[in-house]
Order: sequence, then C-alpha cells, then structure tokens
Amino acid sequence: MKIGIFGGTFNPVHYGHLRAAEEVRERLALDTVLIIPSRNPPLKTKDIAPAKHRYEMLKLALRGSKQLNLSDIEFGLKGKSYTVRTIETLQLQYRNAEFCFILGIDAFLDIPNWWHPERLTALTDFAIISRPGYLFEDLRESPYLRAGRGILKELDSGKTGHHRVELASKRDVLLLPIPPVGISSTEIRRLLWRGRSIKFLLPPEVESYIISNKLYKN
Ligand code: ATP
Ligand code: MG
Repeated sequence: MKIGIFGGTFNPVHYGHLRAAEEVRERLALDTVLIIPSRNPPLKTKDIAPAKHRYEMLKLALRGSKQLNLSDIEFGLKGKSYTVRTIETLQLQYRNAEFCFILGIDAFLDIPNWWHPERLTALTDFAIISRPGYLFEDLRESPYLRAGRGILKELDSGKTGHHRVELASKRDVLLLPIPPVGISSTEIRRLLWRGRSIKFLLPPEVESYIISNKLYKN
C-alpha cells in the first residue's frame, strides 16, 4: 500500500491544497492521501482558527472524496504537533505501507526550522510539488537536497516533467511540477478581513462554514 501524507495548517483549506493532493495521488498512483491538519502548529501562532474549526472545514471539503482521507492523528498526540512524531505514529499504525511525505517547495525550504529536521528527512520518502511564487531552483538553498541547477531550471520551465533525487539522508525525493493554482490561506484571510469575496477559492461549503462561524474577522 502506498500512502501519501499531506500535512498543513489548512487555515483554511482551499482549492490549491485539494488540487495538489489529488494531482499527486493520481501521478504517484497512491492508494490514499492522508490529509493531516496540524492541531497545534509549533511555528505558526498568528491568526490561527481553532483546530476543531480547521478540521471541520476539511471534513466539508473532503466529503465524497474516497482517496483523500482526513486524519485526526494529531488530535490524539499531546503537546506541540511535530511532524516527526506524526509520521512515526503513522508508521506504527500502517506497518506494511510505503509512505511519501508531500509538501510544496515553500514548506520543504522551511524544514530546517522544524523539530529535528535531520530525523524527519531520514524518516520517509518525499514528493516536493511546485507552487506559484516559488521555483525548484530555490531548492538550491536547501541543506538536505543536492540537485544540479540545470535540472531544477528544466523543471521550472516545464522542459522536464519530474525528477528523482536522493536526500543527504539517502531517502528519495520526487520533484514534481503540478498545474499552478495560485491560492494561499494567507490571501484568503486577508480578503476576509477586508470584507472581500472568497468565492471560488475554496469549496462553497467551506465558505459558508467560515461565514456562519464568523472566522477570520480580525
Ligand atoms: P498559509 O498562507 O497560512 O501558510 P498555505 O496556503 O500556505 O497557508 P498551508 O496549510 O501552510 O497552506 O500548506 C500546507 C501544504 O500545502 C504545504 O506543503 C504547502 O506548500 C502546500 N500548498 C498550499 N497551497 C498550495 C498551492 N496553492 N499549490 C501547491 N501547494 C500548496
Ligand atoms: Mg503555508
């Protein structure tokens, strides 16, 4: 069984997340992608909706999708939500599964700031996906991944469809350009503060949830 792990704050979930998860699931022929909202993100403190609301919004967004599955695993773990702990717990739960940790270029570049980054990069294989505003070429700044500038540029320009490299930890990383969806949760929260429309950036059920629960007002 091949399982994708897609974590995030999902504050709130939007079509950029959903399309990315679906795209990777299909391209890597994953049996499932576990969507894991961070219950207590160690690095984000500002403007975070309560975990229960972020979880409920994901539940609405994923209703009816069979292969993207919402996971409440971090709700059962105490303290700060560290990705290392989450993945180790999953590996105990699904002993025969092959895991792939999916994240955007921006998130991968942030890993040096996470809890025990060396342990994390040795724990599982990765898929790094493109995201508007970031280039694969930016990955040259990462201490965990060494890839030639030429191939990174080819991924950015669309000349190469995907590329596999090895991390310093010997784990596999797939660099995977996906069709761009230029949406971020930060931008959605900003629109809401200004009283602007967020229609068509996220599922309509999530939009209604935000409005009826008066989230992201200020
Ligand atoms: P925020 O602006 O609050 O940081 P976000 O939109 O970046 O929110 P996160 O919950 O931080 O969403 O991201 C979770 C994961 O989804 C990360 O790996 C991130 O790179 C990826 N991701 C988010 N939005 C997109 C997008 N539009 N396209 C591709 N990947 C995305
Ligand atoms: Mg983010």
